[in-house]
Amino acid sequence: MSKKIWTDVDDYIVSSLFEADPVLDAVLAANRDQGLPAIDVSAAQGKLLSLLVRIGGARKVLEIGTLGGYSTIWMARGLPADGKIVTLELDPHHARVARSNFERAGVSDRVDLRTGPALQSLTALGSENAGPFDLIFIDADKPNNPNYLSWAMRLSRPGTVIVCDNVIRDGAVLDEDGRDVNVEGARAAFSFIGGDKRLDGTAIQTVGAKGYDGFAIAIVN
Ligand code: SAM
Repeated sequence: MSKKIWTDVDDYIVSSLFEADPVLDAVLAANRDQGLPAIDVSAAQGKLLSLLVRIGGARKVLEIGTLGGYSTIWMARGLPADGKIVTLELDPHHARVARSNFERAGVSDRVDLRTGPALQSLTALGSENAGPFDLIFIDADKPNNPNYLSWAMRLSRPGTVIVCDNVIRDGAVLDEDGRDVNVEGARAAFSFIGGDKRLDGTAIQTVGAKGYDGFAIAIVN
């Protein structure tokens, strides 16, 4: 098995199940033109996030790690008309590109993008009593996973769904040597979810256009 077949199958999934989406194509092109790294979720993963929003009937979503807003747009599309997604991004250039992508996708009215270190934005959200969120997607700097999960618990309610991306990392999640801070972040997410009785979770390994990785998903009891 190779990345070529995983990518071909991802293309098959998209061409079989999704309508042509010139807006999201333009979003990815804008990200590329503006020099953003292609580390957004794949289309199939974005659609899964959108479906999770719909399946859970989420009206308030929190995303940590916006990049150019590709995953934000997928989730915003799953929200009802009065729904809201708060998305947190450190890099002002990424945030500028994301804002213009939200305009392009017609979801600006549903998106509250906050620029700055997520831990600061989360503190502000806590002071504003912005929670509880119905779905929380964690996809930023991986060493902060336990801090983000901790904030996710504070901003959640029983039934909140928490998704944490990139927790398999080509299988490197098995490495216990502590040499890779991103692997340590992935392992910390497992320790957090496995060690907190308020959470019931699992992790799913994935292959596709973005390679071999996976996400953890948990519900607050
Ligand atoms: N969720 C996006 C998508 O799928 O389209 C991809 C997000 S990308 C993997 C991670 C993003 O987190 C980057 O844009 C990066 O600048 C941002 N980031 C990194 N450290 C951060 C921090 N401390 N606070 C907020 N955002 C951060």
